[in-house]
Amino acid sequence: AENRDRMRAALEEVRSRLGREYPLLIGPDEVRTGDSLVSESPSDASLIVGRSAKATRDHADRALSGAEAAYPSWSGRPDRERADVLLKAAAIMRARLFELAAWEVFECAKPWQEATADVDEAIDFCEFYARRMIDLADPRRRDVAGETNRLSYFGRGPAVVIPPWNFPLAIPCGMTAAALVAGCPVVLKPAEQSPVMAWHLVSILREAGAPPEVVQYLPGVGEEVGAALVEDPRAAVVAFTGSRAVGLSINRSAAETRPGQRHVKRVIAEMGGKNAIIVDDDADLDEAVVGVLASALGYAGQKCSACSRAIVLDGVYDAFVSRLAEAVPSWTVGPADDPDSAVPPVIDAEARDRIERAKADARSEGRVVADVDVDPLRDRGHYVGPLIVADVDPKARVAREEIFGPVLAVIRANDLDDALRIANGVEYALTGGLYSRSPAHIERVRGSFLVGNLYINRPCTGALVDRQPFGGFRMSGIGTKAGGPDYLLEFLLARCVTENTMRRG
Ligand code: NAD
Repeated sequence: AENRDRMRAALEEVRSRLGREYPLLIGPDEVRTGDSLVSESPSDASLIVGRSAKATRDHADRALSGAEAAYPSWSGRPDRERADVLLKAAAIMRARLFELAAWEVFECAKPWQEATADVDEAIDFCEFYARRMIDLADPRRRDVAGETNRLSYFGRGPAVVIPPWNFPLAIPCGMTAAALVAGCPVVLKPAEQSPVMAWHLVSILREAGAPPEVVQYLPGVGEEVGAALVEDPRAAVVAFTGSRAVGLSINRSAAETRPGQRHVKRVIAEMGGKNAIIVDDDADLDEAVVGVLASALGYAGQKCSACSRAIVLDGVYDAFVSRLAEAVPSWTVGPADDPDSAVPPVIDAEARDRIERAKADARSEGRVVADVDVDPLRDRGHYVGPLIVADVDPKARVAREEIFGPVLAVIRANDLDDALRIANGVEYALTGGLYSRSPAHIERVRGSFLVGNLYINRPCTGALVDRQPFGGFRMSGIGTKAGGPDYLLEFLLARCVTENTMRRG
C-alpha cells in the first residue's frame, strides 16, 4: 500500500512534466533538429509524453567520431573508476525508482509493478557488471620457471547500442552499462517508441560521471540512423536486442568491411521467441492456468519471454482449455496507470493494427475459446483484447510466428515426446516452461527442451540478473546471456603477454 501511494504521487508529479522536448546528446552538445519523434501515451493517445529530436546519418557520423576519439582515454582508465560510474548510476536510479517507473507507465504503458521491476533490473545490471569487471580486471597469471604469462582484457572500441522499447530502461541500461564498464564508449540509438526513457538513462550515466563523448544519445529511425551506425567501420561492437528480421539484417550489414577498418565487428543480437509451456497430465492445473496466462497476457504479451503456445497433454487437455477460458475474463484490459488493469494497451497504433490482423488469421486456425472485446476503450488508446485459440495445428502460423501481443495458441500433444517435438519444432529457442509433478518427466524436459531459459513449475517470466542469466539460441539470438558471467567478454578483447624473465636485468 505504501508503494502504491508513492507510485500515485510519482505519476502525478511526472504528469506535470509531460510534453517536453529532448535534444540529441552528442558530446557536450545538445542538438535540436527540425523533425522529432513524438511519444504518445499508449493508454491515452491524447497525452504527449515527449518530443525527441530525430537524428540523421550526419549525427551518427559526428557521434562516432567523438566516441572514437574518447576510446583510448576511457578504456585506459582504471577499471575501478569505470565501475564506480555504474555504481553511482545505480544509486541515482534507486533514489528515483518511482519517478523513473512513472515515466515508463506513461511512455510504454508498463503496469506500475512491472515498471518498478524494470528499473530494479537496470540497477541490478549496473551493480552486477561493475562487480564482474572488477573480477576480470585482475590479470590471470600462469607462470612457470623463467616465464610469466598474463591474460588481461580491454575494451574493443566504440559500441553501438540498439535496444527495443519493451523493457525501456533495463535493456538499454544493461547493454550500455556492460559496454561502458568494459571500456567501450557508447552511442545509444533507442527504439523510436521509447526515446524519453533512454534520455533519462543517458542523463543519469552522465550525472554519474561518464564523460559526454563516452555516452551519447541519438534517437531516430532504425533504418536510417540505426543502419548508419551499424555499417560504420568505427563501431567495434553492435549490441542489438529486437526482432528477428532486424537482427538478421544487422548481422548481414555489420559483416561488410570497409577501407580503413581495423577489425571485424562483434555483433550481439538478442531476438524474438515463440515460447511454449508444456502442461503434463499430472500438472497442478490451477497453477498451470495462472502461469500460462501470466506469461501470455502480462504486458499484453509484449515480452520476448512471453508464452504464446500452450502444449497440453491429451489427458488434461479439455479440462485445461475450459479452465483457461474461464480465467481470461479476470484479466481486465485497461490503462497502465490503473492498478486494477491486468492487460495494458500495446505500444502504438501500428502494433495494434498488426496484432489485430494476426488475430483475424488466428481465428481461422483453431477453435476460439476466448476473444475479449475492447470496443469501449478503442478510442482512448491502443487497446487489444486477448485471444485464445485451441486445437491449433503446430504448423499453423499462430503456432510458429511471433505475434508480440496477447494471443495464445493451445496445441494438443499425445504424450510427452510429442509435446517436446512440438515445443522444439519452431525456429526460435528463447524461453520454455513445464508444469508437471513427475520427477522423470521433469528430468526429460530439463534435458530435451532446448531453449535458453527453461522454467519448471513457475511462469515463464522474469529473469533476475546473475540468478537467471537471460538469452536464447537459433533465431532467438547468438546464445549470449545478459546478466550472466560471460556477458562482458562480448565487449572485451583479451591479450596474453608472455615474457622470458631469464633475460631481465
Ligand atoms: P525492432 O527489431 O523493430 O527494433 C529494435 C531496434 O532496432 C529499434 O531501436 C529500431 O529502431 C532498430 N532498428 C530497426 N531497423 C534497423 C536497422 N535496419 N538497422 C539498425 N537498427 C534498426 O524490435 P522492437 O519492436 O523494438 O522490439 C520487439 C522485439 O524485440 C520482439 O521480437 C522481441 O521478442 C524482441 N526482444 C528480444 C529480447 C531478448 O532478450 N531476446 C528482449 C526484448 C525484446
